[in-house]
Amino acid sequence: MPPAGRHLEQLRRLPVTELEKVSARKAAALRQLGIESVLDLLTHYPRKYVDRTNQSDIADLAEGEEAVVTAEVSRSSSRRFRTGRLLAEILVHDGTGTLVCTFFNQPWQARRFSSGQIVTVFGKVAVYRGKRQMANPVVDLVGDQTGRIVPIYRQSGKAAVSSLEIGRYVEEALDRAKEFADPLPGPVRAELRLLPRTAAFHDVHLPETLEDKDAARRRLAFDELLRLQMLLAARRRATDASSNGIAHRSGGVLLQQYLDRLPFELTGAQRQAIARITEDLASPHPMNRLLQGDVGAGKTVVALSALLVGIEGGYQGAFMVPTEVLAEQHHLSAMRLLEGLVVPDPGRLGGERPLTVELLTNRTSGADRGRILDGLAQGSVDLVIGTHALISEGVDFAALGVVVVDEQHRFGVEQRAALSEKASLDPDLLVMTATPIPRTAAMTVYGDLDHTTLDELPAGRTTIETRWLEGERREQTAWKRVLEAVSAGQQAYVVCPLVGGGAVAADEEPEDPDAVAGEDDEEDGGAAGDKGALLDPAELHGERRPPRSAVEEHERLSSGPLGGSRVGLLHGQMAPKEKEPVMQAFRDHELDVLVSTTVIEVGVDVPNATVMVIEDADRFGIAQLHQLRGRVGRSDLPSSCFLLTGDVVTDTAAARLEAMVRTQNGFELAEEDLALRREGTVLGARQKGRTDLKLANLRDHRDLVLESRRVATEIMDDPAYEEHESLLQEEVQALVSPDEAEYLFRS
Ligand code: ADP
Ligand code: MG
Repeated sequence: MPPAGRHLEQLRRLPVTELEKVSARKAAALRQLGIESVLDLLTHYPRKYVDRTNQSDIADLAEGEEAVVTAEVSRSSSRRFRTGRLLAEILVHDGTGTLVCTFFNQPWQARRFSSGQIVTVFGKVAVYRGKRQMANPVVDLVGDQTGRIVPIYRQSGKAAVSSLEIGRYVEEALDRAKEFADPLPGPVRAELRLLPRTAAFHDVHLPETLEDKDAARRRLAFDELLRLQMLLAARRRATDASSNGIAHRSGGVLLQQYLDRLPFELTGAQRQAIARITEDLASPHPMNRLLQGDVGAGKTVVALSALLVGIEGGYQGAFMVPTEVLAEQHHLSAMRLLEGLVVPDPGRLGGERPLTVELLTNRTSGADRGRILDGLAQGSVDLVIGTHALISEGVDFAALGVVVVDEQHRFGVEQRAALSEKASLDPDLLVMTATPIPRTAAMTVYGDLDHTTLDELPAGRTTIETRWLEGERREQTAWKRVLEAVSAGQQAYVVCPLVGGGAVAADEEPEDPDAVAGEDDEEDGGAAGDKGALLDPAELHGERRPPRSAVEEHERLSSGPLGGSRVGLLHGQMAPKEKEPVMQAFRDHELDVLVSTTVIEVGVDVPNATVMVIEDADRFGIAQLHQLRGRVGRSDLPSSCFLLTGDVVTDTAAARLEAMVRTQNGFELAEEDLALRREGTVLGARQKGRTDLKLANLRDHRDLVLESRRVATEIMDDPAYEEHESLLQEEVQALVSPDEAEYLFRS
């Protein structure tokens, strides 16, 4: 039976002003929240729900508990901290005790209430210096609402439109919409125990019980994931159907010569991956493959193998990486391993010429750039390694055959496509991720690709002893170990979050999930409430120390704790002419210690380095820490990694550091990372942009991710579901943006 009822597309074309309750003035306020259509309104889901039936006395409130109290306002005020942060406080009492409600950077909260008013307060209880507090609670005037479960909506900054008003508009919209067309076939819905869409839209806004809203959110989250998977499946099919690919023919001679020169044996996983990729390349369909593997698993060897297969058949290869340093590094090692190899050249006497490899970044000088571009356009350059400079205007290929993209979550689908479009035939594409990503995430973000995983590290890798050292006294342990390594003829890295003079280099900004979360919710009145912004240690328990800079640490360490060693400095604000000699000196062991920023994060490969010291490690995300640690332990020498922090770190930072100490497995760390990211953090960036992924997240909906992928294929394949499919396609068109999946990762 074809689905009956309202289409989301119809609601998207209906402006909110069509609702009787929405005035022109309120419509303007709604627009500030990104709500223009009735669909925007209905998908402006409550950010929390308050269950008013469970009221507590203030005297009974226990630390850590979420609670609702009804109390009288005794005063409200706001003040400014030295750091410039604004604190608004509302003091309430209920006859059994008093409670302080605090709001950071929301001065208007203090103005909303005056003494004598009766309010209900909902939030998480903290106790500080013997006083009960709630950070960013939801505070409402009593009498505003009567329902049992009250939805709390994100409201506009100066409360030009309140949560309560939004609730009224939603109610009207639901009343008038009545029935929603359900694109999910009944049997599928029954099998997955998902609510019908009409019930889901009702219950997400007006649930009778907290369980009802969970079921509703689950159904709507599934819809988001299903739309995304429909898009990915369609994209997969389009490439599968392409007959414009290249059936690479190669005798495998070049590849074999390259492999013979490697100073090591391939791992079994590498061998299998190369075999699989060679098969893909030989087929006339364009390859679209994701190559995953933990740091150090040896993805680069596999990537170069793929490129060589294409090159032997007379095509060109392009290898795009996220940073300059990495491009330079790959270029150097490719030159070394490919030196002396020849490629067929029928135009020449003897029928062959040397294989040519070039480096192209935004820093390639004008003359070199001209020469390289000519070579690419004429086909005399076989392999080009570079940054996103490769997709810039003016780069043309004579016969691009194989593209490798090393992503590190920095390139999107669009950029991948941009490189492929530089070829007349559809080139074969291999995507690598610098950091392992959890399976569910891979299915979503890379759902349009086939997957291969290198699940084996090269033999002889030792574990990296990892320690977290808190406070300045303990860090001496790290310096002592560095000196020992140096006197044993080994080398060490020291990584700092800043360059110097307080500057953070543009592409080196440490991901500081904590710092990002508390700051940006002026509008929201408390997406960060869940994480207890009140407990911000910098405000209350002494400062988190200011981050250290590479320039200053270089000076301090070379004249102090590491005096006597040859200490070099490397950071992203240095010109390539200054950077390259430092890298070279470190590779040649003319330097013992390299103090740097995260420019060394990926790809730097100096097997003699055995100690990694990461300063202010609490300011880095797990993925980054794992990458940095991966710079050591690249030989059979025992290696160590020290995570230095001040005495004060946030809880989530502590959890990240503990995870790093506990395991060295990148896939495990990636799962941990996902689990640690609070919803507010994962979704924070999305709320700003327009995206369809409002409820679904990889942490809570793992099962739905997998199911949605299966259901998408089922609906596309089953002719009985044609009507459902076309309704879904309409929704995809209306709601999903092409880079949607990437949002799941932004933080
Ligand atoms: P990834 O990119 O997967 O993090 P790389 O390709 O950079 O890893 O390889 C890491 C290091 O291991 C490099 O020094 C590389 O030369 C080396 N390597 C790669 N494969 C093997 C192998 N099979 N045996 C020993 N060393 C290897
Ligand atoms: Mg690598």
